[in-house]
Amino acid sequence: MFNNTIPSIYSPTSTQAPSDTVAITESKVVRKSDLPRSRPAQFDELPGLPRRYIASEKGSELCRSISDASALSGSDRRLVVVSNRLIDPNKPAAGGLAVALGEMMHNTDGLWFGWSGKTTDASQVSSVRTESFGRTTLAQIDLSKKLHHGYYEGFSNSVLWPVFHEKLKFADLNPEYFKDYETVNNLLASKLGPMLRENDIVWVHDYHLIPFAQQLRAHGCQHRIGFFNHIPLPPPDVIKQIPEHRKLMEGLMSYDLVGMQRPEDVENFRSYAEKEGLVQRLNERDSGAFRRKPSIQAFPIGIDVESLRALQPSSESEAILDDIRNESGRRKLMVGVDRLDYSKGIPKRLMAFRELLETRPDLRNHVTLVQIAAPTRQTVPAYAKLSDKTRKLVDEINDQFGAIDWKPVMYFNESVDRNALPEIYRMSRVGVVTPVADGMNLVAKEYIAAQNPENPGVLVLSTGAGSASQLSDSLLVPPKDRTAIAKAYVRALEMPRYQRQDRHVKLMRNVKTEDLRWWRETYLNALSPSQASAESKSNAIAEADPESGPS
Ligand code: UDP
Repeated sequence: MFNNTIPSIYSPTSTQAPSDTVAITESKVVRKSDLPRSRPAQFDELPGLPRRYIASEKGSELCRSISDASALSGSDRRLVVVSNRLIDPNKPAAGGLAVALGEMMHNTDGLWFGWSGKTTDASQVSSVRTESFGRTTLAQIDLSKKLHHGYYEGFSNSVLWPVFHEKLKFADLNPEYFKDYETVNNLLASKLGPMLRENDIVWVHDYHLIPFAQQLRAHGCQHRIGFFNHIPLPPPDVIKQIPEHRKLMEGLMSYDLVGMQRPEDVENFRSYAEKEGLVQRLNERDSGAFRRKPSIQAFPIGIDVESLRALQPSSESEAILDDIRNESGRRKLMVGVDRLDYSKGIPKRLMAFRELLETRPDLRNHVTLVQIAAPTRQTVPAYAKLSDKTRKLVDEINDQFGAIDWKPVMYFNESVDRNALPEIYRMSRVGVVTPVADGMNLVAKEYIAAQNPENPGVLVLSTGAGSASQLSDSLLVPPKDRTAIAKAYVRALEMPRYQRQDRHVKLMRNVKTEDLRWWRETYLNALSPSQASAESKSNAIAEADPESGPS
């Protein structure tokens, strides 16, 4: 069943067709009606991800989760995924990207290529190592410490991450970083090139690998290549803060399909391409064989609801679960689950909680904020500072308001096994997701999916999250307005059950409909070779008739 109530931001009028001068063939949001309806049933029935990794022979019986309805339907067609990090088959996946790709690749005849997670002292390039992961082959290479630093901590996480999240004060615009970023992209492309087969389609993920297609094409590759940006793309003036922005963004023009999370990201890219005359320059320089007109569309990523609901905590999470279970029997819980990243708005969320306790003394000792803050990118200085600031705020609040038997903030500065999260979400009356800027934020969707429909909690969600346009029945708050967030907490804590149920039904409809499979099927269909022939026909018409612009 497809939900016909599409949030207004997805209306066809919310994105404009590109002007004639820009060779971006489409600028649209994928709609539910675009989705092929033939879906294999088995995928929904699968248990949680980690169990699937262990049951490897069972993996071969599992459905081809995307193939029947998408670009992979040809028997000799292989999906090649490229991402900075790959999954570790021996560990449960954590992080939105790893979970999404892990579920897809385990059940697909594919190749998954990227960095191994290991660095070496040697300046020599390592050879490619392979191992099996369900029906997919994982292929990975090590990087030298120096190159990895410039590419990953440097350009990816000290330039692209802060600038794309509009946190310019955290950017370190060291020109050496871009050189290493380009070198690593070139290196990875040179290693993948010889492994490609004629009919492969290549799907490149995230901001670490923007120039990847350009580098592959330089090695002669003419495959269909798609890119998906998991983080926000800011307006042109912000992108231009990156000294190498033209070279960087031109890299996107070598893809056949560029996927973004939100319609705003699509619009920002279109606007940048127009303002910078990106396409004209590309066409002047390129020979006909490599002239490309990328399609740019929004594909908001979703979650696999049934897999999430089936997750069962393992014994390693018992200690933390016991603490939280104990607290949930005494007070109403609010919960935040994040990587400890400055894009997630954790300090403001804590300040809003302090304001709640200041302005509503009657709620003291009746509500506890559980904050899980998973350490991340600890070698980048901005993250160490955030860690100190967050800990200090937690201590201040607990010192100011705590009592012998009550700690207002239960702070877990650790990564919690994803298997334990659904129970934690379900125990919490309020889910708090207040990023300043976030590509999508899967925790918001997971919180909704995990609720008991009879007695659901309320999601307080900032408009900085990409998911806000889909989850408009949550309590939406501006991420920087502490007082507005504090008021939303109170409203959520006091919301009567019938209102909570009403909101939950509507939210769940969206989370179930625009789910993980919907995301990857719509993306892969748009990237499929049949889409390519449709595009080339429409381009041929456009070239024959100079009056007709791109669709
Ligand atoms: N997650 C987890 N353990 C933690 C914190 C987060 O397994 O301690 C998972 C969470 O369930 C979600 C993902 O990591 O699937 C975070 O994705 P999101 O899109 O919210 O944020 P990201 O970390 O990708 O920026």
